[in-house]
Order: sequence, then structure tokens, then C-alpha cells
Amino acid sequence: MRRRLWHFHGGLHLEGHKDLSMHEPVAAAPLPARIVLPLAQHIGAPAEPEVKVGEKVRKGQRIARATEYVSAPIHASTSGTVVAIEEQPVPHPSGLSAPCIVIEADGQDEWIERQPVADYENLDPSALRNVIREAGIVGLGGAGFPSFIKLNPGPDKVVDLLILNGAECEPYITCDAMLMQEHPRRIIDGLLIMRHALRAKRCIIAIEDNKKVAHTVLVNALQEHEAEFIEIVQVPTVYPTGGEKQLIKVLTGKEVPSNGLPIDIGMVCHNVATAAAVHDAIAEGTPLIERIVTVTGEALDRPRNLTVRIGTPFSLLLEAGQWRETDTDEVLMGGPMMGFAVPDLDVPVVKTTNCLLARPRSQPHRQPAMPCIRCGQCARVCPAQLLPQQLYWYAHARNFDRIQDYHLFDCIECGCCAYVCPSHIPLVQYYRFAKTEIWAQERQKQKADRARQRHEWHLERLERRKREEEERRRRKKELLKKSKAAGGDAAKKAEIEAALARVKAKKASRQAARANTENLTDAQKQAIAAVEARRQRLQKGGDSGDSQ
Ligand code: SF4
Ligand code: SF4
Repeated sequence: MRRRLWHFHGGLHLEGHKDLSMHEPVAAAPLPARIVLPLAQHIGAPAEPEVKVGEKVRKGQRIARATEYVSAPIHASTSGTVVAIEEQPVPHPSGLSAPCIVIEADGQDEWIERQPVADYENLDPSALRNVIREAGIVGLGGAGFPSFIKLNPGPDKVVDLLILNGAECEPYITCDAMLMQEHPRRIIDGLLIMRHALRAKRCIIAIEDNKKVAHTVLVNALQEHEAEFIEIVQVPTVYPTGGEKQLIKVLTGKEVPSNGLPIDIGMVCHNVATAAAVHDAIAEGTPLIERIVTVTGEALDRPRNLTVRIGTPFSLLLEAGQWRETDTDEVLMGGPMMGFAVPDLDVPVVKTTNCLLARPRSQPHRQPAMPCIRCGQCARVCPAQLLPQQLYWYAHARNFDRIQDYHLFDCIECGCCAYVCPSHIPLVQYYRFAKTEIWAQERQKQKADRARQRHEWHLERLERRKREEEERRRRKKELLKKSKAAGGDAAKKAEIEAALARVKAKKASRQAARANTENLTDAQKQAIAAVEARRQRLQKGGDSGDSQ
């Protein structure tokens, strides 16, 4: 029976330009002489280097560790020598630089010893998540959120539905379509591993109905598995069906709550390329060191898909696509709706680089922005059911409190509003600016909160020390008082003893005075001895008389 599908609000039917890059199979991109690996290629805290300049590294070796829970490690994408750990330009609309590890390739491409997981079904889900975490896998279809976190629903959550997103709705981009066509088993095996980690009840692989080859290939590959809990569903080709919330709506009719996550309604959504990366990590022990990148656009003579090492410079890929540099207006990272122009073409491919789009000068230039005429077209196409003109108004006025009342953070930056705006206002740029400002203010506030808390702790410590000091003084005083009291008794006792001693001495001296046998003359001594002899004789005589 055909599954019932729903519609999300708004959206656009766009020209796909997908054929441009799908004429030939995915090929390996050339090995660059220098690999530049930014430490922040994901949402969350940047990784921390574990290697030193001058150190030799092998392909697949972890060279930077995750520092916090929301973070991902970085691995060397070829063997060589670390020649620098320094700020380098990274893919960003502002052309900013960020800390990177730079490896000079030795051309050997020598692997570390990889350790696949023999029997993942006997592995505890948390141990499985840890392997995925250590492999540095992040969402390959979006902003690069560490995948192991999305594979951890939490102790009280039941995952009813795991969705693999193969919608790839943005024009020009075909890396997921090519992956599904060429590696369906990696995707299905990755899905089974993810299902085991999540203990998900059911799974859907969603593909837009303009990707007929990918659909057929996946259906055939699925027949080799006895996996009746997996369904492959074709969804209408409407931009942005590939948005997580929009895809959930199309497949289930359910809405993810504002500021909420799919897990809040028992669902988890991953990209098909992420599933393939999970397969590689578990079945082969291969960390995330390469990905497929669509190199396309009318300014290339050979647009195509390439398997690219993370850290490869954009310029090398444009050369591989036979780029007509002089005919190029701008190069975007990503597609025409959500991508951004890259000012420096030597920036490296990162984990979230899905497409390089070289636009020719012949394409119409953007018109200058005019004032908003309040036509409401932007609201009609917004798939998040927002009021884009209000968001624009408050972003323009830098009213960052009010803009959040209009659910700025539900905006998926799909660009539908800007696409239809008759005043050619670069609306998404305003929303990105407002989000960046709010995050910066939030960070500032957190910093101030932490400083205030530290100050309060300091004051509390001082107060506690003061209290302790006072208590110490009080105790000392009390002790002194007690000891003084105790000291009085002892004096009295000593006084009595001294008095007794004096009495005793006096008595002895009196006795001695009474005996007075010292310093006698010989005559006195003889007289005393005669008296004593007489006394003894009398005593003897008396004794004899008594006994008769
Ligand atoms: S489409 Fe443009 S002009 Fe019309 S309301 Fe929206 S922002 Fe204003
Ligand atoms: S960019 Fe944001 S506001 Fe504009 S249509 Fe998309 S979701 Fe709506």
C-alpha cells in the first residue's frame, strides 16, 4: 500500500540543474601536496591538537581530540609531516581565519592500523556511539552536528522512527544522489547500525521523486536484507523538502515543536552520507577523512562529483572540474539557495562541504535591494511558517529581543523568502547577522554571568573568612578566660601547700630545738650519758620487779 504523504507550508519548485554533474561516476580527487585541517569543522567546541610541528602522521591517525561533549576529533586525511599549527583561511563568508593543522603530504598515503568492529549487534549502544564519536563523524548534510549525540536519545526517550534523509533538494547538488546510486549497501548497513544504537522501531529512507536511479538501486539493495522495518519512500520534489522538520511533516504529518527537536516527537533524522560514514567507521574502522563533493556550475567544463580528502584546497577541485577562471563570477560553498560566496579559493574542504558551485559571469547579477513593499510574498513561501518581513524589520532595527518573539531560530535559512522578494532584499543575510549577534550577546552574557558568579563567590569567601576569624577570636578569648579561672585555683592550691610546708618546717624546727643535742660540750655529753645510763638501769630494775 502506498504511504500517505503530507505537505509542508510554502516551499518552491526550483530548476534542479542536477544533470550537470551526474554524467560520470564519482572519481577520486587528486592528492594535494598540502592538507589544511581546521580544528572547528563541526558545531561545538574546537578540537585540540595532539601532534607537534615536525611530527610524522599516518592516514587516519587522530591528530586533534574532542575537548567537550559537543565536539569532534580530527584525523589526518593522508600521511605526511605536520608543518604548521596556525591560523589559516577557512571556508566562511567573511573570509576569516581559524586554527588549523597543516600536513605536508608524503605521497605514500600510508594508513594507520584500522580496527573494525566485528559484531556491532553484540556491542552496547553506548560503546557503539563511542566508536562513532572517535571516528569524528558529524552530520554531512547540514551544519555538522556531532552524530553520536543524535544517536543518543537519552534514557527516557523511545525512537519510533529513524529517517534517512536522501532528499537533497537544493539545486545543483548531487553528492548524495551519486552516493545512493553507487553505494546503496553502505547506506543501508549504516542505517542498520544507527537503528541498533537508537533501538529505533521503524526506519524510512526518503528520496525525492526526481532521483529515480537512486531509488531503484536502493530498493534492489534493500531486497538483499530481511529488513521489513525499513521503508524507502519517494517524496515530492519541492524545495526545501530536505529540511529536517519539512521532511518529517511530509512523511508523518507531524510538526516538530517550535525550538524543539525531532526526538521530542519520537523521531531522529540523519543524512544518507552520515549513514555511509557510520558504516565505514564500524565495518572498516575508517574515520571521517573524506567525503563526496559536487564540483559544478556553468563556469566548469567538467562538472562532476569527486571523493575528496578533508583538507583539500578548493582550487584543486575547481581545476579537476576544468574551471574557466576568467569566466567565473563567484564560487559558492553549497548550493545557490543556502550556500555562500567564498572569497579565498585556497580554503580547504571541511566535513560539511557538500558542493562547490562556480557561477559564470553570464548569469544575471543580483539586483540592488529596494525598500520592503509589504507584499507578503515571503510569508507565503516560508516553510517554517514565519513572517520573514517582520524578521527583516527587527534584524534591520537590531531589535534582537523582538526578533526572537517572531521565532528567528526556527528559520532554517532556506532562502525561499529572498528568492521571491520583489525588492531583492538579501533577507537571509539579515537573519544570519541577527543570529550571530544574539549568539555573541548570549556568549557575552554567559561570560558576564560567570564573572559575576566568580565575584559573588569571592565575596562569599571573604565573608566566610571574616566569620571564621571572628569565631577563632571568640574561642581564643573564651579559652583565655577559662585558663585564667583555672590559673586562680592553682595559685590558691599552691598557697595552701606553701602554708602547710611552712607549718611543717616550723614544727620540725621546734622539735629540733626541744632535743637540743647539737653543739654540746664533752662534760654536758658525759652528764647526759650518765643520766641516760641511770634511766636505763632504773628501767631495767623496774622491769625485773614487775616480772617477779
Ligand atoms: S517579499 Fe520582500 S518586499 Fe515583500 S514583504 Fe517580504 S520582504 Fe517585503
Ligand atoms: S529563510 Fe527563514 S524566513 Fe526565509 S523562508 Fe526560509 S525559513 Fe522562512
